[in-house]
Amino acid sequence: MCIFCSIVNKEIPSHCIYEDDTVFAFLDINPTAKGHTLVIPKEHCTSFLDCPATLRNHVFEVAQMLANRLEKQLNCDGINMLSNIHEAAGQSVEHFHVHLIPRYKGDTEIIHFHETKDIDFEELKRKLK
Ligand code: AMP
Ligand code: ZN
Repeated sequence: MCIFCSIVNKEIPSHCIYEDDTVFAFLDINPTAKGHTLVIPKEHCTSFLDCPATLRNHVFEVAQMLANRLEKQLNCDGINMLSNIHEAAGQSVEHFHVHLIPRYKGDTEIIHFHETKDIDFEELKRKLK
């Protein structure tokens, strides 16, 4: 069974900070920052891509509520919210999860996106629109 399903089923301990009928949230065991939280559906979905719409919406509803709670309770100055999809994007646990990573002024590990050159925007637009 997947490790996050085991956490939901309480077969593996976790620092749970929120739970309802369909969504579960707990502190990341290897936090990138103080308060690093994972929000997951209780039902197993491998990533954001295959999570049913109603459940997906509720995961983000809880993520928003907890992000506000993190700002209020931890006095962080910002939050990175992200979900890695597939191994190439850094997904190591194949159970959909949203990271909430509190950020504090002066943090050195802020996520930066670097520019990629030689992109044909017109071709891309044709494929994606
Ligand atoms: P990702 O790399 O996006 O798949 O994120 C998976 C996250 O799950 C990592 O940040 C891990 O530190 C975290 N993680 C893995 N196992 C556990 C666990 N047993 N309890 C809490 N967090 C975990
Ligand atoms: Zn699972």
